[in-house]
Amino acid sequence: MESLVQVNPDDIYVFKGKRLRLVNELRRLGISDELVLQAINRVPRHLFFDPHTAVSALLEHAYANKALPIGSGQTISHPFTVAFQSQHLNVKPGMQVLEIGTGCGYQTAVLLELGVKVYSIERQKKLFDNTRNLLPLLGYSKAKLFYGDGYQGLPAFAPYDKILVTASAPQLPKLLLKQLKIGGQLLIPIGPSDQEQTMYSFIRTSEVDVKGKTLGKFNFVPMLMDKATD
Ligand code: SAH
Repeated sequence: MESLVQVNPDDIYVFKGKRLRLVNELRRLGISDELVLQAINRVPRHLFFDPHTAVSALLEHAYANKALPIGSGQTISHPFTVAFQSQHLNVKPGMQVLEIGTGCGYQTAVLLELGVKVYSIERQKKLFDNTRNLLPLLGYSKAKLFYGDGYQGLPAFAPYDKILVTASAPQLPKLLLKQLKIGGQLLIPIGPSDQEQTMYSFIRTSEVDVKGKTLGKFNFVPMLMDKATD
């Protein structure tokens, strides 16, 4: 959290202004859910990077609409992608949401701002530890964070209203569907890791049936098997 100390108090207003510009850009790109836009407007994206990032770099990149490195070879998702997934998840306050791929916790924070109960799984230990420390410092202490393999889901707290996968799977992970409520939704990018992936929304319509639709092309980091210790 050193960057907090280094930031000139005036920068707070600079970041707020940049955030507002980002929100307007997202609106232009087709994000229309005002609650999602308001949530993005509240989450200080520049504080989700490595605390040693220079303020000048934060000023330049933190609110650009692009994916950026967060350490351990992973990225913080593109703001448009976070907004798009948040919008298509169509959450209501109080819903129980499982997120696969906590990363730096930015999407987790946006979900918390939308008033849902968030359970989130990360497979990389270092990222998990960093994010577990960071989120409470930013006031996001309500998320329940787990170090584990998202392919297994989190049966202990199932069933979920929504499951959001923020890494791309080569195919539909069947175990996740089983952890949805009937009527619940799984939002997941599926496809080969070396090409664009397709965003799918699946609704569990009965014990055994799902109804799926596609929502466009995206680029995600791959959803990998098993926990990693680094
Ligand atoms: N939600 C993040 C996105 C981070 S990128 C954000 O707001 O920016 C995707 C994350 O998924 C990475 O941190 C990666 O380590 C994690 N991941 C990949 N495969 C996983 C798996 N099987 N289980 C849990 N997390 C996984």
